[in-house]
Amino acid sequence: MDSPYDLLIANAEVVTASDRFVADIGILDGKIQAVGRGLGAARETIDARGLLALPGGVDAHCHLDQPQQVGRMADDFKSGSRSAACGGTTTIIPFAAQMKGQSLRAAVEDYHRRATDKSCLDYAFHMIITDPTPEVLTQELPGLIQEGYTSFKVYMTYDDLKLNDRQILDVLDVAHQEGALVMVHAENSDCIGWLTDRLTGSGHTAPKYHAVSRPQAVEREATHRAITFSELADVPILIVHVSGSEAIEQIRWAHGRGLRIFAETCPQYLYLTAADLDVDGYEGAKCVCSPPPRDPANQEAVWRALSHNVFSVFSSDHAPYSYDDPDGKKPNGHEQHFHHIPNGIPGLETRLPLLFSGGVVGGRISIHQFVALTATQPAKLYGIYPRKGSIMVGADADIALWDPTLQVTIRNQRLHHNVDYTPYEGIDVTGWPIMTFSRGRLISKSFDFLGQAVAGQFIRCGKPILSF
Ligand SMILES: [Zn+2]
Repeated sequence: MDSPYDLLIANAEVVTASDRFVADIGILDGKIQAVGRGLGAARETIDARGLLALPGGVDAHCHLDQPQQVGRMADDFKSGSRSAACGGTTTIIPFAAQMKGQSLRAAVEDYHRRATDKSCLDYAFHMIITDPTPEVLTQELPGLIQEGYTSFKVYMTYDDLKLNDRQILDVLDVAHQEGALVMVHAENSDCIGWLTDRLTGSGHTAPKYHAVSRPQAVEREATHRAITFSELADVPILIVHVSGSEAIEQIRWAHGRGLRIFAETCPQYLYLTAADLDVDGYEGAKCVCSPPPRDPANQEAVWRALSHNVFSVFSSDHAPYSYDDPDGKKPNGHEQHFHHIPNGIPGLETRLPLLFSGGVVGGRISIHQFVALTATQPAKLYGIYPRKGSIMVGADADIALWDPTLQVTIRNQRLHHNVDYTPYEGIDVTGWPIMTFSRGRLISKSFDFLGQAVAGQFIRCGKPILSF
């Protein structure tokens, strides 16, 4: 039988950042060809009655196979994209990181070699700028922005990554000239160094002191400073992984002044606290990430800011280091003092269910806010909308079918990343994406990965869309 569609997702309750309606979704050649009622027959039909059809997630902050000086990430593009797909995500945007002394273009080319033929999902790149030489600022960066790398991250901390204030202003000026979006990791490096020396000098070296060495004040101060740089350079910025009330106050203050400051938060600031670093022995290393998780009052502050639209993006900041691994949380095979533990936790696969359960099912955010935070707004900010981030005619058929009532206890053994733990072990959630389609191909079903590693395509990003 001849049919206008390769696949019909029938009777789904479609939810976008603004609308909710029951419809059929007709898919042809990997794109959404029609959304409507009674679309007729297709070569294959999936009855989605009782399920929600949401845009596949866009995880705009994750680290995969990123070259680094010490240790090695547990996930490459193959295991990382597979894990993301099984959690309802269909686009990933990891980081091509420049090493100090390296050309930015060489970093991007190296990262393409790491990604090609490995990802089951479509992917774009942010860049990490660690060495803004005159050549980088005047030649490489403008050229790469034109070629589709329109966002880049700068760090205010970590010795091998950080820029000084003048360098950050120089990078922001390029973003202003060329129309790019700068992501800022906002923590005060010298304050952390001073506190770390004081702690280790008095014998306080256990994982829990990681959180003590990075109190909210160091995040608050750096957030304020980054906002000031944005104002001086006259260019919007995005503050990544905001952890609690004090940085949120700075962002609200900037909004009150009419400044274009975008902000991101992550599941660890909703579901973990500093107490998770303070467990017997060394296991607290599993939850060492920066900024560190705070306390229950700050979790509530982050939830409230999500509900009030202070945040535009909800990402995983997946930074995969296995616990029992000399390349991971035990460098050289040993338990280390807190400041030598690799920073980062896994979360690609659990990002969406954690926010859906606590936020939508928990009544703190609407399902439209959920879609906006996890798909539509990151797609706009990073220049891949309207191809990604919504369900509409002409978009890629990147769709997650959710069972909004499915009860799941998170267990690492059910996840598909290559990390030997999840910080969310044992947490009960309601709602899970039980089918994920990437450009119309069913790649995950009921916790099983069905796809092919090689099918993901690289996406060149357009200019950021900053109003939504
Ligand atoms: Zn990160």
